[in-house]
Amino acid sequence: MQLIQLQPALASIVDAVPGAKRFHIWTIGCQMNEAESAKAAALLRQAGYVPAVREWDADIVIVNTCVVRQQAEDKALGYIGALARLKRRRPDVRIAVTGCLVTGQERRLAERFPWVDLWYGPSEFERLVSLVPELADVDIDLVELPHYYDEGQADPEVTAFVPVIYGCNFVCSYCIVPYRRGRERSRPVEQVVAEVEKLAARGVREVTLLGQTVNAYGHDLPGQPDLADLLERVHDVPGIERIRFLTSHPKYFSDKLIRAVADLPKVCEHVNLPVQSGDNEVLRRMRRHYTVEEYRERIARIRELIPDVTLSTDIIVGFPGETEEQFLNTYRLLEEIRFDKVHVAMYSPRPGTLSARWPDDVPREEKRRRHRAVEQLQERIARERNERYVGRTVEILVDGLARGRWRGRTRGNTLVFFEAPGDWRGRFVEVRVTQASPWYLLGEPVTGGSAEPAILTR
Ligand code: SAM
Ligand code: SF4
Repeated sequence: MQLIQLQPALASIVDAVPGAKRFHIWTIGCQMNEAESAKAAALLRQAGYVPAVREWDADIVIVNTCVVRQQAEDKALGYIGALARLKRRRPDVRIAVTGCLVTGQERRLAERFPWVDLWYGPSEFERLVSLVPELADVDIDLVELPHYYDEGQADPEVTAFVPVIYGCNFVCSYCIVPYRRGRERSRPVEQVVAEVEKLAARGVREVTLLGQTVNAYGHDLPGQPDLADLLERVHDVPGIERIRFLTSHPKYFSDKLIRAVADLPKVCEHVNLPVQSGDNEVLRRMRRHYTVEEYRERIARIRELIPDVTLSTDIIVGFPGETEEQFLNTYRLLEEIRFDKVHVAMYSPRPGTLSARWPDDVPREEKRRRHRAVEQLQERIARERNERYVGRTVEILVDGLARGRWRGRTRGNTLVFFEAPGDWRGRFVEVRVTQASPWYLLGEPVTGGSAEPAILTR
């Protein structure tokens, strides 16, 4: 999963409802946090609140935190610290903090940040009622989504995240998530389908099913439906044209799931499969429960059954004890597999995890060097992978505007930009690719520059 920082900004809506109470949500972290902030926004809207661009204009501020790495934690703590000034000037403002920072830490945090009114753990939306009594009558499981968006972010009127499984039953030695998000809890199939149907009715065309280990879906439900079964059910929802899912664990990436991706036309040919390291000894110490050989075999099978698949992965460099040779094994694996996208992170010890008890012995400068080496390698590979699109026409779903250009993604999740007059949001458009970079493609809609947008039905 990717680390994002999301700031709601909807100048056009703010102040449009005189007298309405206003909310501001600050978010950092993974797509699950993004989904949970969006849900909090939906709940507040249902309670009659409207979004505020700045926390200074808000009646309630929600801070959604991440502690997967020290950097994210520091940013969240800095922001909560800065809210003291707001509370001094406007004692009536209510401040709530949620996300992975909070679980099990409420008392300690409350002492340090007494200006915060409410601490609630990930997905504990019902606790917001103590600050927003109007929420008592809202069905939290099936609140009307979607909500708001920011320029540069995908428009939730077009695409939406749908959490399908919370928590994680793995205990990777470096990872804080299981301690903060608890054991796996799958949402019932019918509940997920009902949410997707509501989204479709609102005009959403693409959904991404979310979980820390999304392909562990269903083992805790009666009848044990799995992710492939869920994909089939979501596939039947009229109006939904594209389905994605993340993040998958290599251990559960079954042939049945690969076949579901290959056979269900709406399921996009994109697989996010974090490998973390290309060295067996490091993987063993990470407690990942697979070997490089097993990972390679899964990738080969995915490529065999889904020939056009695009692949992304996550890597940690500088794990405790990682030698130069072990790092080079990761580097070589990346060269061999040639992912379309790699999220690389420098190891960050997380108090309470197993690996935090081991010496963090790869010096910071060396971690940086390995990080840069992976980035440079991946930049070259991604450029080469993307160049194959130049001159070809790709189908994108336009999900918003970014710095004056229309923005969308291919089925393989590659970003594409084009400039054209008219409103293209929410449309499937064929774009002829004229230029490729490691990070995105540039192109022109195949209408040949007409002011009338092409609406290409599928
Ligand atoms: N569940 C997914 C998996 O199995 O890979 C990933 C979820 S994790 C919250 C998101 C990413 O953060 C991981 O893939 C990993 O690369 C990174 N990450 C987690 N803990 C980390 C740590 N202590 N230091 C650096 N990166 C970390
Ligand atoms: Fe963390 Fe491992 Fe669970 Fe992913 S699978 S959330 S890395 S413990």
